Amino acid sequence: MPTTHRNYVDGEWVESRSGETFEVLNPANTTEVVGEFQSSTSEDAEEAVEAAVTAEDEWASMPGTERGAILKETAQILEDQKEDLTETLTREEGKTLGEAGGEVQRAIDIFYYYAQKASDLGGTVKSSSSTDTELYTKKEPLGTVALITPWNYPIAIPAWKLAPALAAGNTAVLKPASAAPTVSWKLLEALDEAGLPDGVANYVTGSGSEVGGMLTDHEGVDGVSFTGSTQVGTAVAQAAADDLKRVQCEMGGKNPTVVMPSADVDEAVDIVGAGAFGVTGQACTACSRAIVHEDVYDEFVEGVTEYAETIEIGPGDEDVDMGPHVTNSELEGTLEYVGIAEDEGATLETGGERLTGDEYADGYYVEPAVFSDVDNDMRIAQEEVFGPVLAVLKVSSFEEGLELANDVDYGLSASIVTDDLTEANQFAENVESGVAKVNEKTTGLELHVPFGGYKESSTDTYREQGDAGLDFFTSTKTVYMN
Ligand code: NAD
Repeated sequence: MPTTHRNYVDGEWVESRSGETFEVLNPANTTEVVGEFQSSTSEDAEEAVEAAVTAEDEWASMPGTERGAILKETAQILEDQKEDLTETLTREEGKTLGEAGGEVQRAIDIFYYYAQKASDLGGTVKSSSSTDTELYTKKEPLGTVALITPWNYPIAIPAWKLAPALAAGNTAVLKPASAAPTVSWKLLEALDEAGLPDGVANYVTGSGSEVGGMLTDHEGVDGVSFTGSTQVGTAVAQAAADDLKRVQCEMGGKNPTVVMPSADVDEAVDIVGAGAFGVTGQACTACSRAIVHEDVYDEFVEGVTEYAETIEIGPGDEDVDMGPHVTNSELEGTLEYVGIAEDEGATLETGGERLTGDEYADGYYVEPAVFSDVDNDMRIAQEEVFGPVLAVLKVSSFEEGLELANDVDYGLSASIVTDDLTEANQFAENVESGVAKVNEKTTGLELHVPFGGYKESSTDTYREQGDAGLDFFTSTKTVYMN
């Protein structure tokens, strides 16, 4: 029997007032129910906000070292559960065990990182024009924050919002995506076991518009940190702006890798292939456009096609390179884009078919797809697909490559493969993207560096991760002490 998971509100595990639950299926075998979760109502979300508001003062006034000790204890509990968390993540979201293990480790490392930061939030001593006056700045928590997260990194993203929020002395309500809520539920369980005071972190599952909508509207919420699609993020930013809440939205991408003729083509294929097809292409930073110089275009297309064809696909807990899509609607979204690209005249070099049959047990599998002859105005070159689909565009110069790299609405991560230092520098200087990489895949970022996008990839006022990750969750006060 699948476990029924309750919400976590004011330190208690509670059922929704709706009395209803929803099921989470294993995307590798859709006959297996991974767990059941509460179909929460807006009243459930409201109660969670009220609990968080009530807990604000006690948590904010606790010494940072004590808050940090609870975060460190949480990291240790997660570390002890690493194997179980990894298997659960694979079972509910579909990543391979290797990919899931890396993500779980990232969540653990994030809690250790912000456990340290809790006692060092920043603030500076300034020199005053009056000798009788001490002048300094200090960092203070916002109050209660709503954290709304997507399914594609279901433990790392909740961790990189919750850990800095709590370290800085905020209380929080987390609303995870319904496709993969189990591992973030276990995060709350670990915080509870680590001795987090009641009401400091709360967890409510359910519909985005009902639960998420209440969190963005509620006057008790002082800040909303959202990660998800640009479409939903835009609505969240607009709702939060109504009563001037602080808001941070990290959203979609259409990430390019430019390939220049000075590059080693095999290396370029490996970089683009790993960026495009890792985690089943379901990364916000996934490479979905290879912008390739005409001198190496044919060789590159041949190489990346072969790369895609050698990818082993199957259940993430077997010895495979790529797991399934997370849900049927995500799978259908990818298949729809394959059809659109074909209709628009792009050439399908390989892949793009759903994989069915006994060995795939009704899982949401699709072959990785490579399209050549892609024009920049085709939808496949402009819109986020969020699956293992690569569009390959041809250019005749570095300048044209840079121009196409920038000629989309998004600006999250971008890379170039080149042996030419001038091109590398010009790319890093001029690409309109929150992350710029040279001779590296577009995916992956270390946890101590700022992460966020330009243009429609982000509201672009705050960054996540590292020291910058604390900025969203703190206000700066200037103090004159005469
Ligand atoms: P989504 O936008 O559909 O949902 C994200 C979250 O918002 C979910 O918890 C959902 O329930 C909630 N939500 C839905 N409607 C809402 C509303 N009206 N008000 C408040 N909350 C609402 O995104 P998804 O499908 O879960 O995730 C995939 C998307 O996330 C992709 O576009 C991807 O690029 C993006 N993403 C971005 C980053 C980044 O750091 N930039 C990281 C990971 C994923």
